[in-house]
Amino acid sequence: MKARMCEHCKTEEAVYAMQYIASDEPSLYTLGSHIRGFPVIRVCPRCGAEQKYIDEQAKLFLALSGHQK
Ligand SMILES: [Zn+2]
Repeated sequence: MKARMCEHCKTEEAVYAMQYIASDEPSLYTLGSHIRGFPVIRVCPRCGAEQKYIDEQAKLFLALSGHQK
């Protein structure tokens, strides 16, 4: 089974699912325990810690997903 790679650095294995559930603040969940029905961005621990960088990408991602407020 292939490991899912981080969607940002694409070199580390993704272990977190970052989601915007009810606010502009991203929430990190471990993959598998994330909330279904919301856009998921898979990230490694290092990228998960760099949320400021991810934030811009996440907004773009959400915009593309039609998940804007
Ligand atoms: Zn990464």
